[in-house]
Amino acid sequence: MQKLAVLTSGGDAPGMNAAIRAVVRTAIYYNLEVYGVERGYAGLIEGSFRKMNLGSVADIIQRGGTILHTARSKEFTTENGREKALQKLREKGIEGLVVIGGDGSLRGALALAELGVSVIGIPGTIDNDIVGTDFTIGFDTAVNVVVEAINRARDTATSHERTFIIEVMGRNSGWIALQAGLAGGAESILVPEFPPDFDKVVQKLMNGIKRGKKHSIIIVAEGAGSAYEVSKEIEKRIDLETRVVVLGHIQRGGTPTALDRVIASKMGGMAVELLRKGETKVMTAVTGNNIITVPLKVVTNGKKALDLAAYNLAGILAI
Ligand code: ADP
Repeated sequence: MQKLAVLTSGGDAPGMNAAIRAVVRTAIYYNLEVYGVERGYAGLIEGSFRKMNLGSVADIIQRGGTILHTARSKEFTTENGREKALQKLREKGIEGLVVIGGDGSLRGALALAELGVSVIGIPGTIDNDIVGTDFTIGFDTAVNVVVEAINRARDTATSHERTFIIEVMGRNSGWIALQAGLAGGAESILVPEFPPDFDKVVQKLMNGIKRGKKHSIIIVAEGAGSAYEVSKEIEKRIDLETRVVVLGHIQRGGTPTALDRVIASKMGGMAVELLRKGETKVMTAVTGNNIITVPLKVVTNGKKALDLAAYNLAGILAI
């Protein structure tokens, strides 16, 4: 392996830059030529390669987003599109590719690897919805943004004796809602993995009011429905004014947490080691305190389960 490339694809996530930096610097450490592909698979099909050096990744470890930019590409989902991408890699003499992205990007990574080029995946998405890894790059930062928002909402909720309903991201997964809800001491956490029980939500609110509680926070994962609908359901059952906050895209930006930077750095470094060893069709993953590999076939088959013990605990703590 003499030449390799790295790209970011799908939704951006804080920490992607730290992963790019680790790939580039590890490659240079081993005297490999390394290219950045701009705009994910769309740029790969166009052959948008940027030769990277140590300076190209200076001063980016603390920045959110991705310096290589990201995109979604319909063309890449076709065999013809992937053949074009392969052709561009061959023309450049690139033998290995590191793909940093979410579920869709990793499916694309496997499909490209099937054509014969070595591909290593790195899970980069705030949603933490990737099978085989405890954490995805960006998740911890997004959770911290939500917790910060909960803290702020709690101040107002207490002052005005109100119930806040906060809608968070996560696509079809409740991971951000659960982790942030647990860390933020939410009264109820609604996730797509379990059907909402509004009577229980209201019961908890009433228990709190009886105890003299002045405020409540309810977290709703976007995949579980809209915070406005939840608000209506609650107000149907109880005479209580609620306030809705939809956090939206601010959860995807911002400086990555130390945890995200460390995970990203370890995964980026390992991806290059794996390519040097001739590995392909695997993703780097966190399990416990270790970075391991998981076959992309396993990653792209199935849905990551929510942490049931944590979900039950959140219910107990918000009794
Ligand atoms: P994410 O990686 O954040 O889940 P997407 O699902 O939009 O984001 O996927 C990013 C890109 O990966 C898509 O625009 C497409 O080019 C590629 N991709 C997604 N699914 C597949 C697939 N099944 N086969 C090949 N490429 C895919």
